[in-house]
Amino acid sequence: MTKSRNRNIALQLLSFAFLFSIAAMRCGAQENSPSPSPTPTPPLYSEKTLSELKQLQQAALKSDYAWKQTAYLSNNIGPRLTGSAQAQKSVEYVAAEMKALGLEVQLENLSVPHWVRGEETAALVEYPGMAEKTTQKIVLTALGGSVATPAEGLTAEVVVVRNFDELEALGRDKVAGRIVLFNYHYDKQMAAQSRAGEAYGQAVKYRGEAPSAAGKLGAVAALIRSVGSADYRLPHTGQTNYAKDVPKIPAGAVTAEDADLIAALAPQGTVRMRLTLTPQTHPDAVSYNVIGDLKGSEQPEQVIIVSGHLDSWDLGTGAIDDAAGVAVSMEVANLVKKLGLRPKRTIRVIAWMNEENGLVGGKTYAKNHENEIANHFAAREIDGGADHPGGINYGPKPEMKDFLEPVAKILQSSGAGVLDFSPNAGGADIGPLTKQGVPGFSPIQDNRTYFHYHHTAADTLDKVVPQELAENAAVVAVTIYALANLEKPLPR
Ligand SMILES: [Zn+2]
Repeated sequence: MTKSRNRNIALQLLSFAFLFSIAAMRCGAQENSPSPSPTPTPPLYSEKTLSELKQLQQAALKSDYAWKQTAYLSNNIGPRLTGSAQAQKSVEYVAAEMKALGLEVQLENLSVPHWVRGEETAALVEYPGMAEKTTQKIVLTALGGSVATPAEGLTAEVVVVRNFDELEALGRDKVAGRIVLFNYHYDKQMAAQSRAGEAYGQAVKYRGEAPSAAGKLGAVAALIRSVGSADYRLPHTGQTNYAKDVPKIPAGAVTAEDADLIAALAPQGTVRMRLTLTPQTHPDAVSYNVIGDLKGSEQPEQVIIVSGHLDSWDLGTGAIDDAAGVAVSMEVANLVKKLGLRPKRTIRVIAWMNEENGLVGGKTYAKNHENEIANHFAAREIDGGADHPGGINYGPKPEMKDFLEPVAKILQSSGAGVLDFSPNAGGADIGPLTKQGVPGFSPIQDNRTYFHYHHTAADTLDKVVPQELAENAAVVAVTIYALANLEKPLPR
């Protein structure tokens, strides 16, 4: 808590200093210029808009609407894995809530993968020092998309590698017929320095590619060290991606503690594991993106997307990933309506389906709207939890900064005035749009504990702090409404 507050104050000071220096530079420039420009540049935001942005910010900080929606999605509906009955229920629920807000609601039809987790158990049945007729339990979970072991499980020797290079060095002789454990460490130090996304990016490569790398060399199963930061013996699930033309082998994630255990025993002698994973892949199912429009009063054809993903993994209740993102997006429409504001462009709230294991929602939307990309003024996704926001990530053009400074100035009063340029700003679902040049946004969030719970059984409502969720809603509502009323087009 103290650390977070200190960091927050530091961020505020930094960004004050920054805004001050920009203002000083501007004043200096004016004083030095020989003659004032003959035609004054029109303002980026009208006085009316600026005052409405402040109203929105204050209303967001006081509102509990996003909290109630997060709670309903996580507690009352629960885990929402694509293709499940709960995912369908969440579609119906969010569509009805958007209608209740007065939005024009459409369900966008999707054909989605339908994978269902089965039994998942493992035990060491041979290892140096083992007491006779015992086993040692290994805590693990199947990776999304994994194929199954035989129903009675498989038993094989375990080989441990730290990375792909070590696997290659072992070669087929030492890999074929065995279970490969990839003991690649998530970089906790990097995460503690607020670079959790980068730490995740490095380790998640193993979740995606390790099973096929091992399968290619004849392994019978692949396990990874869980991609995440906490130490509560929690396995982290997530999608794996089998390569074409490589045998598909069962794939799971063991906890960090169990990876350490096996890595400690393996150099001492033979370690054998019995592994049972019985997930099933059903035929594709029908599902939907939920799309709700708050029509613009002047340029209704121009659209600003504010979004989160409705599906979640099945181990927890998907509160931080990503009920919170959907709820904050709905909150934007709720606040604009409640305050009686009229956006000039259309604010489009989207609850995406299938972010976690296929991205069918994001891809289908981009395809269905391929002729309207130019009318997509901006897109935003909230998919990094609900911890304290520091400001706005934006991209793909650094020049967008000038357009966001008046917005950052307002957000600064709630400690969220930092502007961070990132060429790939946005989120997975809006990726197909931002890749085509649609300006992308996401909130900067404190992500130091996000990967403790990400894709685990502990992604539950208690991890969301109501006040911090409201702070996120304030950042998002102010940015979205500002974009909807911006007097000029954004650089793209
Ligand atoms: Zn997510």
